Amino acid sequence: MRLLLVSTPIGTLGSGSGGGIEFTITNVAQEMQRRGHQVTILAPDGSTLAGIEMITVPGKGQISVQNQYEDAPITLPVNSVLANLWQKAREIQHNYDAVVNYAYDWLPFYLTPFFQTILLHHVSMSFVTHSIDRALASIAQKYPERLKFGSFAQAQTFSFDTSYCPVIYHGLPVDQYNFSATPKKYLLWLGRIAPEKALEDGVRVAQMTGIPLRIFGKLEDREYWENIQQNFPDAPIEYGGFLDNKADLQQVIGESMALLMTARWVEAFGNVVIESLACGTPVITYDRGGPGEIITDGETGFVVKPDSVVALVEAVNRIAEIDRLCCRRVVEEKFSLEAMGDRLEQWLTSAIA
Ligand code: UDP
Repeated sequence: MRLLLVSTPIGTLGSGSGGGIEFTITNVAQEMQRRGHQVTILAPDGSTLAGIEMITVPGKGQISVQNQYEDAPITLPVNSVLANLWQKAREIQHNYDAVVNYAYDWLPFYLTPFFQTILLHHVSMSFVTHSIDRALASIAQKYPERLKFGSFAQAQTFSFDTSYCPVIYHGLPVDQYNFSATPKKYLLWLGRIAPEKALEDGVRVAQMTGIPLRIFGKLEDREYWENIQQNFPDAPIEYGGFLDNKADLQQVIGESMALLMTARWVEAFGNVVIESLACGTPVITYDRGGPGEIITDGETGFVVKPDSVVALVEAVNRIAEIDRLCCRRVVEEKFSLEAMGDRLEQWLTSAIA
């Protein structure tokens, strides 16, 4: 297959500001190319990904939809990189068998019936705005197979019937993750520091258990972070910034007792969950979104009542019951690049057919 993957208009590939999308698009591009497909990425200027053909376009970045209210209108800045990406995609679409969109934005969703080459969508977030929900609904009505979700829980947040839309779990290059059998005594919290990720619940766990919490990720909302520091002056927490280097990230994951997933929103998938399991580190998560589906309670971590800090603490106290090798094996079997590649190939082949 000749595939054109159109990246997110939020930041450049390789910068870290695209969050989980960057990780996903990198893994998808590399795995599909390894299988002999021809892969091109179309992305904002400044994007890089070694070994993959890249076409870049200039323009002003898009405001992330995740920070918008439900009735927010669609807005594009002057010289929008999103518009430029899709102008370019229209021009070059005939060189490809399929165009796959990774942006959670109204414009590419809306364009679906107007493309001559089949346009498919990786839907990377749950319901946020009504305008996007409507655009997705009209795709689902006509071409449900073109919308791919990261988890069943994510798909269910939308107003329309998603039962004919595929749910395809992500994967990662397992051999690039070292298994660690013996953790040190600390808990880990990974992610963008923003209200929807509810870091404060993780901080409360640290305060109640006395077990240090190490925090890594992009500081997206400074005021929110300053409030946490003021509200919990004695909690044993340490913020280490955003770790660019995957080797450093792996080391802090592998050495931790457990990863805490405390998101208040319905996380579409949660790449950090499979990264954690790949290192042998169990995950304690609220029963919400992708993490609640990926983790098997009592086997690869604990899935607890949403928003209950007491339940998180109880799970931390039982963490020694989890076999770290079992966490690793689940990734090898279900969340490897090969396993993800099989799922994607099937989706793309049947959608194109
Ligand atoms: N990440 C990273 N360094 C950090 C914290 C996170 O590289 O210090 C990466 C992490 O490995 C993961 C991504 O950021 O690939 C976050 O993706 P996820 O799907 O978990 O959340 P999102 O940001 O998409 O909501």
